[in-house]
Amino acid sequence: MRLDRPDTQGRFAQFGGQFAPETLMPALEELEAEFTKAWADPSFHAELDSLLRDFVGRPTPVYRAARLSAQYGIELYLKREDLAHTGAHKINNTMGQALLTKRMGKSRVIAETGAGQHGVATATACALLGQECVVYMGEKDIERQALNVHRMRMLGTEVRPVTSGAGTLKDAVSAAMRDWVATVDGTHYIIGSVVGPHPFPWMVRELQKVIGEELQTQMDGSAPEHPKPDVIVACVGGGSNAMGIFYPYVGSDIDLVGIEAAGYGLDSGQHGASLVAGSPGVIHGSMTYLLQDDQGQILEAHSISAGLDYPGVGPEHAYFKDAALVRYESVTDEEALEAVHLLASTEGIIPALESAHGLAWITKEARSLRGKVVVLNLSGRGDKDVEQIVEHS
Ligand SMILES: *Cc1c(COP(=O)(O)O)cnc(C)c1O
Repeated sequence: MRLDRPDTQGRFAQFGGQFAPETLMPALEELEAEFTKAWADPSFHAELDSLLRDFVGRPTPVYRAARLSAQYGIELYLKREDLAHTGAHKINNTMGQALLTKRMGKSRVIAETGAGQHGVATATACALLGQECVVYMGEKDIERQALNVHRMRMLGTEVRPVTSGAGTLKDAVSAAMRDWVATVDGTHYIIGSVVGPHPFPWMVRELQKVIGEELQTQMDGSAPEHPKPDVIVACVGGGSNAMGIFYPYVGSDIDLVGIEAAGYGLDSGQHGASLVAGSPGVIHGSMTYLLQDDQGQILEAHSISAGLDYPGVGPEHAYFKDAALVRYESVTDEEALEAVHLLASTEGIIPALESAHGLAWITKEARSLRGKVVVLNLSGRGDKDVEQIVEHS
């Protein structure tokens, strides 16, 4: 059964919770109370909805991919999150949390970013609302993602290099946490997916479910060109775009399929498939499925797409998996790369490497999906990935 809210301890059955330092507990409690109030306040929704419409470009269209549909013998539709401002669904969440920051009377925002996509979405919302913004980023990632670093700086954000550890996302998360502990009175920490301690997984789900709610009205079965979906497919990194499109449909008779990164293959041990191939444990403040060794040490994930290169997953997905409400599958780097080229050359859309994982699964399953109405959440556009795609081709 789908849960409207996690329980009083922030859990979805045994998953989720608040595994956070004592010093952050008051901030998490305040955040839960403030978001609960804001979310029940029509004036908060009115302000957010008008920004989502006029600034972000919502509702995003649903596009029938005619040539691929004919090729596969399925009815393939794309939910075009790639057309949202900044090129992906992440802005739905950062707009909401930046507005909440203003409402809480805080003037400073911090975030952490790996590939820089969440950093850019956060910097964008903060520029719009005139908020001070600091983004922590591992120094290795700063080198690898120079374009997004320039974008954040143009938007007025301070990008703080993190030199500890391997200089990647995990270290940036720790740095952001340390900052928040010291500055919590005037600072909000914007987490970028349905991960982290309660209330983040629930709050980010509420902010992203607009994707699925739009789809319900866009494909309501009212006309032959607006059929109801039989299957909805989305890629799963932390899980926010998948959660956003799945949530309104969870518990219905529509088949929901989340696609994780199998990287070099599940057998290689180098992948990001925490639901398909991981086991329960604690990561970034919550109990969920993750990649760990026999001693419970968290393993490095691998995926060709930075957004899926994460050893954990949002706790509500862990709950969906165990309750068999959503099915989780995986595809490899190679299959995802092929899907990028396929969508680009067949439909004139260059997808993000993340989103291409969903299309790759549909391609593999085309025979079993024959005759069905299949919706793919096209979570982002591939402009950010062009260099990497060319390198691998
Ligand atoms: C960040 C990102 C993802 C992965 O994050 P989720 O929280 O799993 O959605 C997927 N697609 C794109 C385009 C992204 O930028």
